[in-house]
Amino acid sequence: MKTQAGTVFLDRDGTINEDVGYLSDPDGLILIEGATKAIRLFNERDLKVIVLSNQSGVGRGYYTDAQVHAVNLRLKDLLGREGARIDGVYYCNHHPDVDCQCRKPLPGLVELAALEHEFDSKRSYMVGDKASDVGLARNIGAKGILVLTGKGAGELEGMEEAPDFIARDILEAAAWILADIERPLL
Ligand SMILES: [Mg+2]
Ligand SMILES: [Zn+2]
Repeated sequence: MKTQAGTVFLDRDGTINEDVGYLSDPDGLILIEGATKAIRLFNERDLKVIVLSNQSGVGRGYYTDAQVHAVNLRLKDLLGREGARIDGVYYCNHHPDVDCQCRKPLPGLVELAALEHEFDSKRSYMVGDKASDVGLARNIGAKGILVLTGKGAGELEGMEEAPDFIARDILEAAAWILADIERPLL
């Protein structure tokens, strides 16, 4: 019998791929070492993998939604070549000054994902390189893991709420998550 597995929400830039700053060109996408393996581990454990990304570059006029889609497609393609699967990608395209409900740490993207995927956010995980990723985890009752890739190391200072775990990178985050799932509930 399959246990009802949780879901792993992943930030994109600085977590799965290098944060080059407002990435708009699919050819500029570089996977962070271990990202493919980490996502494969989630796939093998039957954990749904959903990417949640703030892409204010659209709202700022730096690039278009079509370019975001092209980068996301490239990401799925690069991962897929190594047998790693992403189940969904959702992003906020708003300018930070816009009063939207989907810019992390607000939970709008998770609500959007819930229309297409079944998951229990309280049994889920959010992995990202920013305080807003950990904040989102708090807001949906999930466990939040900060990775030190991307902006992670800089974000650690002055973070109001401690993450449940601080990982060197996404692969170490994956190892922690898999162990956490096996941990018996007290
Ligand atoms: Mg990020
Ligand atoms: Zn938004």
